[in-house]
Amino acid sequence: MSNQDWLARSRQAVWHPCTQMKRHETLPLVPIERGEGPWLIDFDGKRYLDGVSSWWVNLFGHCNPLIGDAIKAQLDTLEHVILAGFTQRPVVELSERLAALTGLGHAFYGSDGASATEIALKMSFHYWRNAGRGDKVGFVSLQHSYHGETLGALSVTDVALFRDTYAPLLRHSHQVPSPDWRLAAPGESHETYALRCADALADFLAQHHASTAALIVEPLVQGAAGMAMYHPAYLRRARELCDRYQVHLIADEIAVGFGRTGTMWAHQQAGIKPDFLCLSKGITGGYLALSAVLTTDEVYAGFYHDDVTRGFLHSHSYTGNALACRAALAVLDIFEHEEVIESNRVRAAWFTALMEPIMHHAKVRHFRHLGMIWAFEVDTARPDFASWAFCLAMEHGVLIRPMGNTVYFMPPYVVDGEEVSLFVSAALDMLEQA
Ligand SMILES: *Cc1c(COP(=O)(O)O)cnc(C)c1O
Repeated sequence: MSNQDWLARSRQAVWHPCTQMKRHETLPLVPIERGEGPWLIDFDGKRYLDGVSSWWVNLFGHCNPLIGDAIKAQLDTLEHVILAGFTQRPVVELSERLAALTGLGHAFYGSDGASATEIALKMSFHYWRNAGRGDKVGFVSLQHSYHGETLGALSVTDVALFRDTYAPLLRHSHQVPSPDWRLAAPGESHETYALRCADALADFLAQHHASTAALIVEPLVQGAAGMAMYHPAYLRRARELCDRYQVHLIADEIAVGFGRTGTMWAHQQAGIKPDFLCLSKGITGGYLALSAVLTTDEVYAGFYHDDVTRGFLHSHSYTGNALACRAALAVLDIFEHEEVIESNRVRAAWFTALMEPIMHHAKVRHFRHLGMIWAFEVDTARPDFASWAFCLAMEHGVLIRPMGNTVYFMPPYVVDGEEVSLFVSAALDMLEQA
């Protein structure tokens, strides 16, 4: 069977995500045979550096033996069991370890990021309802935020491309200005701008706190907004305001958790603790679908009652899947044994130095970096820049997926200097031709 046949069969039978399928009449799918560390290898043996961590999920490379072996061992013991009324070792251990790492002692599980968002929104609303505050039915999020694509999650998402078509199906929510420092006034510091945005949040909450259940934010980096970065001062003010007005703070760390911003959790850089923490993507190192919502003793106590309907009657069939929890435990072991946060700090500084030629290129705007994320805008008149740049980089053996004119590099934590240099040379060629 030739590769062309596989591509045709895929176009025939597989409806690919976030894709206008007709585009694949001209843009070929890339058939991947196997993975090896930060590399993906296609059917012809051509290698691509996975510069997007396979959509932000992969932390320690493809076919990582430590994660693979943990899953294989679990596979011979217990693959899955209903979690209502039953429990198992991996889910208990994972919940305890996440509690120790976050100070949030109660873990509720889902399968995808969007389901974590749904869980957090429903839990916040239900907590207030149980507390006699059934009037708190609203949510507020940042402009350009992304929290997933199921209807509830899309209701607090503010990315026009994903949202506008479905707007008639969505619940109304409020958006407040994004502290994204690219939007600062000329000469205004990132911190001053973040605090100016926090004033807008203060105004909103002063007026609407009585009907607002929660503020949901992506701490420090709004990924789908084009790796928009902002000063942690915003989160500190947001925490104070949420406390003052009795509004929950939901930290959506689905993309930025697990060391991506340089600390285990992004909100730690603001020295705050959220009421809810949504985790997914990197949680299993990119192996299996799993998400978790962690919350406080106070929220948990609000549901603990003789009355069944005061409990959180929400479930997904694969809640707390044992294989996925085992993969997540292997990921936490790697963080601990290999001191990943510390070594990433050193390596990220080295990688940033390697990117100097990009930083100073005449067509580059807003070069930014946080932890293991690098991003910049390209000054180009090409209307098809994103798909053109994707194809050009693929010829160089580098997988990047620009969002509009924003190019970002968000590799697995196992890349080395040589691999980063490959990204740099692909980016420089792209900038020359853009
Ligand atoms: C990816 C993402 C989600 C949704 O996760 P899925 O697993 O794709 O449903 C939610 N929030 C943020 C910040 C994300 O990056």
